[in-house]
Amino acid sequence: MPRLATRCICCETQALDRQPAVLMPFVAERALGWQACEITADWGLRSIPTGWAQPLCASLHCPDCGCLFLDMRFDSEEMGRLYSGYRGPAYEAERERHEPGYTAVNRRLLGGDAHIPAVEAFLCPWLPASPAVLDWGGDSGLNTPLRTQASRHDVLDISGRSLVAGAHAVNTPQGPYDLIVLAHVLEHVPEPDALLRDVRAAMDDATHLYVEVPFEALMRTCEADPAAWRQKRHWHEHINFFSADGLRRLLQRCGLNVRAETRHALPGSGVALGVLCRR
Ligand SMILES: [Zn+2]
Repeated sequence: MPRLATRCICCETQALDRQPAVLMPFVAERALGWQACEITADWGLRSIPTGWAQPLCASLHCPDCGCLFLDMRFDSEEMGRLYSGYRGPAYEAERERHEPGYTAVNRRLLGGDAHIPAVEAFLCPWLPASPAVLDWGGDSGLNTPLRTQASRHDVLDISGRSLVAGAHAVNTPQGPYDLIVLAHVLEHVPEPDALLRDVRAAMDDATHLYVEVPFEALMRTCEADPAAWRQKRHWHEHINFFSADGLRRLLQRCGLNVRAETRHALPGSGVALGVLCRR
């Protein structure tokens, strides 16, 4: 993966639409060590006007599948810095400094997702009564669907957070699994296709994969007005905004067959796209 994306992260189209945007200060400083700075007259630059320089990036839009993403693709060291101690006390304090009010949002997120019963109702008809479940990127395991009735609840996560009762931390998949959950992960990662191929390798012919990503408000607007993507002028930790078509094409390109799709209301006014797949 080059430093700046040259093709669509979902469908690999190379003719992308491009528009300048800024990388938000928390992400720019934590991942890259970049800070905004003021260019003053004493810099002595004759061809550049004075004023504030913010970390510059671009919004890339795929005209074929409709997905929208940050051009910068962070490397593993940058991702390590960005997500070390994710949502923990030091992370929370640093982010609060850049984004006043974050702490209250974070505490609510750590309390658990209210839409999990709807996810469980969607998944149940496809699975045995007591499924073996792996939650890939599942943090503490608190939001793993069907965890209270699972025969096994494995969590694969780099955060190192302590897990809820009944969950087991694994460094590599310990299949066979009836269900692998990949929820609210793909919007953060530089190479979604590489991750999905790793996940697919942990599946057998009976394993179901449940993928869930935010269906961002702007992407919902784009369903009726495709040109609305041009409103995207800033990027934060969600570096990939998926359209329903883009997510479907990404999964198919990674050898996953879509069996069912759904949309869930999230707390507040959010919406999530959910897709159930088999190999
Ligand atoms: Zn595309």
